[in-house]
Order: sequence, then C-alpha cells, then structure tokens
Amino acid sequence: MAQYAFFRGQIVPINEAKVSVMTHGLNYGTGCFEGIRAYWNEEQEQLFVFRLQEHFERFLRSCRILHIDLPYSATELGQITLELLRREGYQEDAYIRPLAFKGDEIIGVKLHDLTNELAIYSTPFGRYLEEEEGAHVCISSWRRVDDNAVPARGKITGAYVNSALVNSAAVLSGYNEALVLDQHGHISEGSAENFFMVRHGHLVTPPLHSDILEGITRDSIIELALEEMGLKTEQRSIDRSEVYICEEAFLTGTGVQVAAIVKVEHRPFGSGEMGPVVARLREIYFDAAQGRNSKYRHWCTPVYDLG
Ligand code: PMP
Repeated sequence: MAQYAFFRGQIVPINEAKVSVMTHGLNYGTGCFEGIRAYWNEEQEQLFVFRLQEHFERFLRSCRILHIDLPYSATELGQITLELLRREGYQEDAYIRPLAFKGDEIIGVKLHDLTNELAIYSTPFGRYLEEEEGAHVCISSWRRVDDNAVPARGKITGAYVNSALVNSAAVLSGYNEALVLDQHGHISEGSAENFFMVRHGHLVTPPLHSDILEGITRDSIIELALEEMGLKTEQRSIDRSEVYICEEAFLTGTGVQVAAIVKVEHRPFGSGEMGPVVARLREIYFDAAQGRNSKYRHWCTPVYDLG
C-alpha cells in the first residue's frame, strides 16, 4: 500500500489526499492520467523509472486536450515523482499514477473556468495481466471511442468506461482480454494495451489514426525490434481476419508489459504456445526497462542516489 501522495502542491500522507463526492472529475470523468512503472533492480540495488520524461510529456498533452493547465513542466513532475518514490522507499516494482482533474464541486458539464487539481500516488505492482505468456483474446463487440467523440490519444478518465466495457465483456465470457475495432472496423488496440502482430516475418501495428493511445511501450518495442532484432514495424490498418491468420501476436503497455497472445477466438497460433519473436522481444524489453542493458539506460531514471 502507498503511504504518501503528492496532492495540492505537497507530499502528504495518503489518507489526507481526499476529494468530495461532488468533485467534477468524479461526476463527469473530466480528468486525465498516466501509468508509469518503476522496476527494482536487485543487482544494482536501484529503482529505475521507465521513460519518466515521455510519460509526463504525454500527461501534459492529455491535459491540454481537457483545458487543464498545470503549473509544472514535465521535468518538474518527474522530480516530484522521484521525491515521492524516495519517501516510499520501495525495494520492489511499483506503479505510479499521476492524475489531473477538474476539482470544482459544482453541477455543470464543461471544461473551462474550472479549478485544476493534481495528484500523484504510487503502489507496489506486479502483473496487470496474469496470462502474460499466453493470452486468449476475442474481438470486442464494442467499438473504440472515436477521435471526434472522446480522443483516444488522450488518457482521459471518462474514456476508460469504453475500456472497462471492452475488458469486462471479454473476461466475463471466458477470454483474458479483447481487441477492439475502430469506427471503420479495423483493429485499434486492446482495452488498455497496444496491439502488434507478426505477418510474413515482420511486425505490423495499427496506425495512430486507428484511435489508439500513442503508447510509450509501443514506441519502445518499435525501436527495440529494429535495433536488436533487425525487425521493421509497419504501421497500417489491420483487418480483423488478419489477426486470425497471423504468425504471432502480442499486446504492449506499461501494465501488460509485453504479453503474448496465443489464441484469438478459439483459433490458436501454431502450437498455441508463445512464439519465438514475442519470446525474444519480452527478454529484450525487460532487460531494457529494468536497467540491465546500458544501451537503453537513458530510458531508466534511477530513484536513489548512485553513491
Ligand atoms: N492503450 C490504452 C488504451 C492504454 O490505456 C494503454 C496503457 N497506458 C496503452 C494503450 C499502452 O500505453 P503505454 O505503453 O504508454 O502504457
């Protein structure tokens, strides 16, 4: 359990970071958030935050969509997060949740002329998806939120009702997760993950205009696959039926990390076990994210003094 939160400009005990039931963000979903992982590296006795700066840059872009003007830069938010993690003193993997929202206690649906609140908290964290080595996914009957309705490129709290509908429909039907289609019927992403498949020996992932979140793990995997495996990623629209016939498929995200999909709507890929490309990418990703590959150390911010 977390002991502290950054709230109203200072680090306070977590029990003091509370809001009213009348809070605008709670009633109308007028907020946005981030999800960041910190990995404990036992050998180096260090906690590394993965792609801290990039997460706060995306956070500020989400804020911009919602007319939330925070008095901090991405770098300052990163510094606050490091201070918070030092106070927690974690020696295990953790998850960090920055959250900005409209804090007024009023009735009225709008984004302008309201008070912006900021909270950052963290919690020890293990797996997001239990079946990371072999998920069975379906194609959701729900559609992904459209850019002209609720922009998916912003991590907007209210938009996560879409993700929750997608995930619960899948899990309650016996699947581990679902892929969701965009308004044109092409694959968009998972409920809280980006999607990749292997076709004809190279990687394919939906383009930004398929109403996806501009995933930071997605970006990392595109770079790692090219640099470490010589694998190019094509960003293009993906038909539903291509997912049934591809060689391998996987999900990427801060929570899910790199999770193998082994079956789509009862159609297994090959033997129904994790494929070689996904298996190798998982190794490469964990080495980079957990601070074990010096080539990618610039992605890992140490929390504790190096002395
Ligand atoms: N899509 C959605 C809808 C998500 O919530 C997430 C998790 N943040 C992702 C994709 C993956 O993004 P990232 O790799 O930046 O965590």
